[in-house]
Amino acid sequence: MTCTPMWIDTHCHLDAAEFGAAHEPALAARERARRQGVGLCVIPAVERANWTAVRELAHRTGDAYALGIHPLYVPRARDEDLDALDAELAARRGDPRLVAVGEIGLDFFVPALCEPAMRERQDRFYRVQLRLARRHGLPVILHVRRSADALLRHLRELPPGGGIAHAFSGSAEQARAFLGLGFKLGLGGAATFEPARRLRALASELPLDALVLETDAPDIPPQWLYATAAERAAGRPQGVNSPAELPRIGAVIAALRGLAPADLARATTANALAALPRLAGVEEGPA
Ligand SMILES: [Zn+2]
Repeated sequence: MTCTPMWIDTHCHLDAAEFGAAHEPALAARERARRQGVGLCVIPAVERANWTAVRELAHRTGDAYALGIHPLYVPRARDEDLDALDAELAARRGDPRLVAVGEIGLDFFVPALCEPAMRERQDRFYRVQLRLARRHGLPVILHVRRSADALLRHLRELPPGGGIAHAFSGSAEQARAFLGLGFKLGLGGAATFEPARRLRALASELPLDALVLETDAPDIPPQWLYATAAERAAGRPQGVNSPAELPRIGAVIAALRGLAPADLARATTANALAALPRLAGVEEGPA
C-alpha cells in the first residue's frame, strides 16, 4: 500500500500518430505520466487495424486496453470486422490487460455520419458490439457525441455489464440514466474551461462515485494547452494533450468539488476499478 494515491487515465489513445509513428515518443509520454502519479492508462482501440497496436502498447507500458470499432471509423469498417472482433475477443480472453469492448458508440455530430444510411450502419455496429460485450462478459467504453439518448435506448435493450460513458457532456437527466444502467461518467480536459458552466456544474454536483477521469489524449486538450484560432494564427501551436496532464485535470475537478486532489484520486481510482473490474488484475508497469 503506497501513501501517494494513484491516478488512472481511463481513456488515452496512446497509439495515436500524434505521439509519433514509432513507439518511442508514446513510451516517453507514458513515462512522464508515471512520474506524475498516473499508475494506469486504458488504451481504447478505434478500428481493426489498430487492435494489435493497442494490445502490444499496453503490454509494453504496463497498462490496459479495449478492443472495438469507433463510430467515426464505421464508414470505412467492413462487415466482417465484427466477426473478426468476436474472434479477437475470444483469442484474448486470457489476457488480463484486456478490460473492455471499446471504443464503441454513436456520433451524431459529424454531418456525414448523420445521413440515414450511415445512422443505420452506426446503429448496427453499436448493437452488434453491445452483444459481443455481453457474450464475452466485458464492460463497454462509449463514445457519446450528440447521441446520449440513442445510446441509452440501445443500452436498455441490450444492457452490458456497465462501463464508462467517455467524455460525458450531457444533461443531468442523461447522467442519471447512465448511472442507473451501471455506468460511470468520464470527465477530462473539457471541464477545465471556465465557460463550460453546465459541465463544471455536473462535475461538482454528481455523486463522487459516478466519476472517472480521462485525458482522451491526444484529443481534448485542457485549457492550459489550448490555443485559440487567433493564437494559432499568431503562431502559437496547439498543445498536444498527454496522460501526464491527468493529475492537473484532476486537481481542477477536485477544486470544483472542494476536495483535496488526493481524495479525488482515491475515489476515481476506486470508481475506475468498479467500472472496469479487470483493471484490478492488471499489474502496473511493463511486463
Ligand atoms: Zn476516444
